[in-house]
Amino acid sequence: MVSLKKTATGRVETSNSCLAHKAWLNIWDTDVPNKVRIHFWRLAKNGLAVGEELQRRNIKKGVICCACARLETVLHRFWKCPHSVFAWKKMMELTGATFSSPPDEFINHRDFQGWLMDWFSNLKTDERALACTLLYQLWLARNDSRDGRIIEDPRSIARRAVALVEEWDEVHSKPALVKSQVKEQWSLPADMWLKFNTDGAFLVSEGCGGGGVVVRDHTGRFVAGACHFFPTAIDPEGAEVLACKRALQLAKEMDCDKFILETDSANVAAKLKDEAKDLSSLGPIFEEVKTMIRDFLSCEVRAVRRTCNFVAHKLAREGCKNKICKTWFSEAPIC
Ligand SMILES: [Zn+2]
Repeated sequence: MVSLKKTATGRVETSNSCLAHKAWLNIWDTDVPNKVRIHFWRLAKNGLAVGEELQRRNIKKGVICCACARLETVLHRFWKCPHSVFAWKKMMELTGATFSSPPDEFINHRDFQGWLMDWFSNLKTDERALACTLLYQLWLARNDSRDGRIIEDPRSIARRAVALVEEWDEVHSKPALVKSQVKEQWSLPADMWLKFNTDGAFLVSEGCGGGGVVVRDHTGRFVAGACHFFPTAIDPEGAEVLACKRALQLAKEMDCDKFILETDSANVAAKLKDEAKDLSSLGPIFEEVKTMIRDFLSCEVRAVRRTCNFVAHKLAREGCKNKICKTWFSEAPIC
């Protein structure tokens, strides 16, 4: 049973220890060097010696932001300082990923921690690595700039963070089989075929998910779209597979028999293509979706990069956050 209460900033907080535990596990599951994970964990646990903390603990007074001379809080150093804002902007430009910014204030660290864990859990695997690395690099740059030196240019910090993630990925690359299945660019379906792009979103603090679907034809024209609220999703992968199910229901409603189903979860795509019975906790839903796929004349499941799945992602977030279920035909929703 999940019990919810509102914090002073209006966010919903969960007391479900299982969800909270999962959110913390995400830190240790992130594919980055250990020191980067530990830094993120310290950030979440209020263990970084920012100016405000040093003052509160009577260790040192007057430690101000090394980039803009304002009061140095965790929120300021990593997100709100114009220097950090630039770094996040550059990272989004370089990678095509979207990172939302926290609210301007929190009532206490616990409130901030709730936001942080929620935000982190809703990022995709590769985005988590990027976010953790940028936060760590911002911290190193801040430490290097002590003793009166000017802090490093935020753009070069972002570039280095992206390069470090790429380098790490290369050295610790996944088996070639999974990588080669992930398409780099959105591509048009063949003549007479449609393409259904799907995405799932999951809100840890509320224990619910959402799904987005975008349908395009062989010219790239928008044909239909849907966003859906999944009150029963139990984790991000659950939301992803429910989004695929929603896409298949839409295909059925549209009487469509030849289409590509694209998800940005390589794991979900691989499981849907696996002929062996899925015995995991999400097994029943995977099996149900696999049966639905077999009912179509031609339904090809593919994995794409998240950057090729942008609109479906937006719709999934919409369904999840606003708890809405909607379908559009012919005219694309504004998001
Ligand atoms: Zn600043």
